[in-house]
Amino acid sequence: MKIICLARNYVAHARELNNPLPEKPLFFMKHENSIVRGNKPFYYPDFSTDIHYELELVLKISKVGKNIEKKFADRYYDEIGLGIDFTARDLQTEARKNGAPWEIAKAFDNSAPLSDFLPVSDFKDISSLAFQLDINGKRVQEGESGLMIFPVEVQIAYISRFITLKTGDLIFTGTPAGVGPVKIGDHLEAYLEGKKMLDFYVK
Ligand code: ZN
Repeated sequence: MKIICLARNYVAHARELNNPLPEKPLFFMKHENSIVRGNKPFYYPDFSTDIHYELELVLKISKVGKNIEKKFADRYYDEIGLGIDFTARDLQTEARKNGAPWEIAKAFDNSAPLSDFLPVSDFKDISSLAFQLDINGKRVQEGESGLMIFPVEVQIAYISRFITLKTGDLIFTGTPAGVGPVKIGDHLEAYLEGKKMLDFYVK
């Protein structure tokens, strides 16, 4: 399986990092060994001093698709969850400055803590899902899927022009505003439509 992650998919987040708004979806990839499940702790890596949290809605692909049409995109995912796109912002800033790829900043081991998934049928409307992140009991991010620059169906259509989507692949759909650093000892709790989905510590 593979993990495809949207970048700059919310206006307020692109602005907070002084990035231009993308004209087309912009994505990068993580890997199977990025995943942390079961609310296990995130161990702060030794190669960065500026790891940031990014809470994101995550889609799980339910069947193989290539060149998927926007109007059929909802047939290709059947579960939704939450994930953290941990980012070594110091390494990313350096990579961007040099025009280099982002992999070491984004795709390192354990960079993608992942919740359990819920069936899409549990939700009335995928285009208006609310999700939030609390750190040490304080709200730091509030997301709303309706504010995505490129909605889910556009992401699936665009990505699948280049990369065949396969059962079990994950799409991280981008982070809303409010990203910031974590430190050892922090307690992260994330909610989707009021349901607690993630609850873990940074160690
Ligand atoms: Zn992200």
